[in-house]
Order: sequence, then C-alpha cells, then structure tokens
Amino acid sequence: MINELLNPWIRDLVPYSSARSEYSGSASVFLDANESWDGGNDGMNRYPDPFMRRLRKEMERVMGIPYEMSAVGNGSDEIIDMLIRMFCVPSCDSILIEQPTYGTYSVFARTSAVGVIDVPLTPSLSLDEDAMIRAIRSEKPKIVFICSPNNPTGRVYPLETILSIAEENKGITVVDEAYADFAEDFTSAIGAIHENPRIVVLRTFSKAYGKAGARLGILVSDPEIQKVFMKAKPPYNVSRCAENEGLEALLGADAVEKRIKETIARRKETAAFLSELPYVTEVFPSQANFILIRVQDAAALYSYLLERGIVVRNRSNDPLLENTIRITIGSESDMNKLKEALCEWR
Ligand code: PMP
Repeated sequence: MINELLNPWIRDLVPYSSARSEYSGSASVFLDANESWDGGNDGMNRYPDPFMRRLRKEMERVMGIPYEMSAVGNGSDEIIDMLIRMFCVPSCDSILIEQPTYGTYSVFARTSAVGVIDVPLTPSLSLDEDAMIRAIRSEKPKIVFICSPNNPTGRVYPLETILSIAEENKGITVVDEAYADFAEDFTSAIGAIHENPRIVVLRTFSKAYGKAGARLGILVSDPEIQKVFMKAKPPYNVSRCAENEGLEALLGADAVEKRIKETIARRKETAAFLSELPYVTEVFPSQANFILIRVQDAAALYSYLLERGIVVRNRSNDPLLENTIRITIGSESDMNKLKEALCEWR
C-alpha cells in the first residue's frame, strides 16, 4: 500500500552504499571510507553511523519510540523535505496544510514544484475537519500535514479529528508533534500508526530536549516508510557531534522533565500576566513553549520590544492572525525583562 504511494523513482531507487553501511560484524582496522587516520581521539576523523543505531536504541529506551519505526534527520525540517520528495511527483502532486501553521511545509513543497492546498482554520483556530475532508476528496493531496500542538497558535487538536482526517486521506498524513512534550494530557498519533500505516509522526530534539543547535529531528513511521527514508536520505545526514548531543540529552532525561515542568508553569504564569495588560486583547490558550497574543498594534509593540533588546515574532501576516505576536517562553530572567518592558509600554 505504501509502495503505491511512493514516487516510482524512489520505489526503484538503488541506494548509495556508504562504506559504513556495507560491512557487518566487528572490525578494528578501518580502511574503507577514505577518512583521515588521525584527527584527535574523539572519533571525529570517522564518519558517523548512517543509521544512528545507538541514538535510536536510546530513543526507544527513553522516549518509547520503537526502534524499527524510527529514523533521525538533520532537524525535522530535513524529514519534511524528504517526505515531500519521497511521495510527491513534481508539477503534479500537492500537499494539504491548514492555515496558519508552521511555514516550511509549503516552502519545501514549492522548492520541489509540489502544489500547496491551504485550508483555513476556523475563526477559533481549530481544525476545520469538514473543509479538510472536502478538500481531500476533491484535490486528493499526496500528503496532509497536521501540526499539533500547532505553531504558531499553540493549540492541540483532538486525536479523533486527526485520525478521522487521516482515515479519509488515502495519501500520507504527517502529524508534526514538535511541541508535544509541553502539552498536558496529550495523546500522540504514534499509537495509531499500527492501524493506519499512512500516518507519519514527527518529533524533534530542538524544543523540550534543548538541542536546536544540534539539528536532530525524529521520524516515527511504519517500518516500510522508515526503510525508504533510510534509503533516500543523504548517507551521513546526522553528524557525530549531533549524535553525541542527542545521547547526552537522553541521558539527562530528568533534567529535560524538570525543564518541561518549569516551562509549563512559566507559560501559565505568563499567560495570566499577559491577559491583565490593557492593550492585549486576546491570549490564545497554548500547549506549547510559546504563547500567541493579539494586541492593538502588533507592529508598534514588536518595534518597541526590539528597541529594548527583546525579540519576539510578529505573526500578523499569517491568515487569521492580524495583530498577533508570538512569545517563546524563556528563562525566568528573560521573562522578567519582558514583563518589565511590557509594563512600561504606553
Ligand atoms: N515543526 C514545527 C512545528 C516547528 O515549529 C519547527 C521549528 N520551529 C520544526 C518542525 C523544525 O524543527 P527542527 O529544529 O527539528 O528542524
């Protein structure tokens, strides 16, 4: 079934066979990959494991993501790009996204000459299930992207809604759960992959795990899709440095847990603070590590904060998001500086 959805040239692809993927067994003399024989004693003269086996085993242990269902990308951005290139025929297929949502789905589609079908969220920023199903029936997109919790709104969509859209969609449904760790009472779509292998879930080390600089994204899928990703990706897409960072984050799972709790508490406290400000007209409920607010004049507030050395995101150009600002939850001291500046405005 998955096979039929793949681009024919990907289905028939003979993967590049890297030196490190060809041998099995144990060896101690490596004369196979044209690496330098020297380069320090941290192993950096050697290519990384193309399949990130050690990291994926640790991901299974700590995150509970089954080994045979996982793959690692150079950020989830690389995985989004790869999925589009694996499944969508340029100048022919399209992806369907809700609007507003994370911006790279449409950009990667366009860089591959793949069409983008936009379905607006409802005025309350929830998924418009009926409109999505109508668009799926009429346009037959190859991939539907659903971001939950959504960026930039922070809203989690009910899993039943996501699953019924995925059921209706005969193509691939990618559920981007980058911010899932910050959501309370969250049920992941990972558990639904067994029933519907056309569901693919994205996770990342960039948010709760604190490793945005390392670029480590996670694909969770039916093993059939995982195998195709492994075959089609650049051979050494994740560096040794990134792998080490990922392993370190997983070893420090307690610290991650503590940071998540702190972030959630600060999100609630910041939301309460923001809702008291006279010029804030709306604080959107968020399950992520950011809060979206509506103000009287977003451009003026953005410039004012920047003058004070504080950078936020002005999301006012997104559909439905006129005069909105997205604020990431930072450290306690960051948030104190923000609050001080906000209190002194106007
Ligand atoms: N998905 C969403 C919803 C995001 O907001 C982001 C980053 N802002 C990403 C994916 C990209 O994450 P990564 O750092 O893993 O490429």
